[in-house]
Formats: sequence, structure tokens, C-alpha cells
Amino acid sequence: MSTRVNWYPLIIILLLAALVLAVSQLVVNRGQQARVEKMAANEQQRYQWRMVTTWPKGLPGLGLAPENFARIVSESSGGRLQIKVYGAGDLVPALGVFDAVSSGSVEMGHGAAYYWKGKIPAAPFFTAVPFGMNAQEMNGWMFYGGGLELYREAYAPFNLIPFPAGNTGVQMAGWFNKEINSIDDIQGTKMRIPGLAGEVWNRAGGEAVNIPGGELYTSLQTGVIDATEWVGPYNDLALGFYQVAKYYYYPGWHEPGPTLELLVNKQAFDALPKDLQTIVSTAARAVNQDMLDEYTARNNDALKTLVEEHGVVLKRLPNSVLAELRKHADAMYGEFAAKDPFFNKVYTQYRAFADKAASYHAISEQAYYQARE
Ligand code: CA
Repeated sequence: MSTRVNWYPLIIILLLAALVLAVSQLVVNRGQQARVEKMAANEQQRYQWRMVTTWPKGLPGLGLAPENFARIVSESSGGRLQIKVYGAGDLVPALGVFDAVSSGSVEMGHGAAYYWKGKIPAAPFFTAVPFGMNAQEMNGWMFYGGGLELYREAYAPFNLIPFPAGNTGVQMAGWFNKEINSIDDIQGTKMRIPGLAGEVWNRAGGEAVNIPGGELYTSLQTGVIDATEWVGPYNDLALGFYQVAKYYYYPGWHEPGPTLELLVNKQAFDALPKDLQTIVSTAARAVNQDMLDEYTARNNDALKTLVEEHGVVLKRLPNSVLAELRKHADAMYGEFAAKDPFFNKVYTQYRAFADKAASYHAISEQAYYQARE
């Protein structure tokens, strides 16, 4: 008797298994396809941002950094992130930049942290403070010394992410219409001098005001102010201060290496895909260095033009005046640190880094400057 094997159930099971496999493969493929399509759509999504600035549109140095940043971002992203730059007063006043970005009415801004000391008393440490760190030291502190973390912490409550984005190097002490031979000559001198330096100026007997760059020429010309600091030869030549002030003083005790900043609205930044976020932060870093390079190259010839063609009188602030200003600065730091815990936190950390940097720079940068004289 022959045994007949009944193959049917096995065939049916195999057919069913094949069907299940095919259907599941289809579902997986569909899912993968949807994911790929979503990623492609994300990569194709284009973003249009607006950037407000505290500078006159296209001002050499300071005003070119936002334009350079926007160009680098557009080119690096294949045009997926386009940023339109507005000068001071175009959309919001120069000193309205912080609020405009914080509220989200624009996505980003370019300016300087010390303009916002009324909102964040410690903010000047992220730009420049009297007798503080120079450009090289500021960059070391920001990117490798904990500075950027404190900067981000300070701005977080305002819905803002700050990026260092420019540095002018050591500035000039400023333009005066009278000689400063002793601390007595500062008494009652109304000067445009922002940040903590303005506080020191007041303590030394002067009268500090903060006026945006675009209004300084007229303010000096009409006698609204007796003196102004701005940046250095390259920028100051462009703004024509030599026409309305005679004496050009150095060194920039008040701004030894100011860091400029890009402010980004947090929601706007979070909405970008990761690659565009990286482009934004990398472009900011590029602009941060580029500005310093430009000032380093252009200040020299500009100073020559100011002195030789325009008859500007170049003068050094007397040591006695610098010592007096230093004394007022140290007292101010102590008082402000005692009043505001966050100011104290930033100051303590900043001071520790600055002291270490100064010790090493005494035997490196400073010793070298002396050696080559
Ligand atoms: Ca300045």
C-alpha cells in the first residue's frame, strides 16, 4: 500500500508565508519612502530670515559683518537660508534690536552685548569691560574657557541664543575737543561711552551717555557731547569724526577687545534642520575672526590718513589718568558683584581666566612687543 503525502496544507502555509512577507516588505518600503520624502522635503525647505542691526547699513567693519554672515549662510546652504539685513532704524531703532529678536518679530540681530546692560547687568563682560581682556583672550575665554556657556545662560531667559560674531581689537580711547592732562580735565566732560566704561567715566567725574554710531557726528558737531569713543582709525575715519574733534586719544582702556554678537531667536533657531544650524554657528565663527582680520589690516593706513592728511592730533592718555580710571573700575566691579549674584558669577569666572591669560601674555605677547621695538 503506497503512502500518499498530502502536500496541500504545506503549500498553503508556504503561500501564506510568502504573502505575509510580500505585504510586510511593501509596508516597510512605503515607510522608508515616506521617511526619505520627508527628509528631502526638509532639505528643500527654504527659510527667509530678517536681521536687524545696531549699525548704519554697510558701515565699514561693524556693518559689513552682518552682510558677510548673510552671504556665507546663503552660499553654504545653497540658498535654503536667506537673511535680509536691515541697518539701524530701518525696521527698529539701533537700541531696539534685543527686544525685536527676543519677541520674535525678526529672527536675528547683530550688535554688542554691552548695549543691554540695563536688562542684564553682566552683559558687558560678553563685549568688553574696562581694563579687561583683549580680542585674543576674549576668543580663548568664549570658546575654550566657559565664556560662551555663561553668555548663553545670561540670554536664555530672553528667548535668545547669542553667538560671538566679530571683534575690533583694542580700540582708541576716543575723540576729544580738549586735552586730557589730568583727571580734573574729565570733570563734567560729556562723553559717548557705553557699557561699564560709562559707569567708570561717571565715577571719575565725567558724564557718560550712550548714543548710536549713526548719530555721533552730529552730536559732536552741535556740542550735545564733548567727546566720543567709537572704534578705531578704520571706522572712525569713515564716520568723519576728524572734522568735528581735534584730539584722538589712546589706548582704549575701556574696550580692549570688544566682541560683537549675533542674536538668534530661540524658536527660529530650533525650527532649522541640523545642517542649517551648523551653518549658522560656523558662519558666526568665521565672521568673528574675519572682522578682527579686517581691522588689523585697515587700521594702520587709516591712522596715517587721519594724522597726515587731516591733521588729527594723536595723544596718549597720561598714566595718572589711566591709574585713576583703573581704581574706579576695580571699585565698581566689587560693588556690582556684591549687588547681583549673576554679575558676581560671571565676573569671578572672567577675572580668573583674565588673570591667567595676563600672566602668560606678560611673557609671550607683551614680551615680544617689547622685544621687537
Ligand atoms: Ca567703542
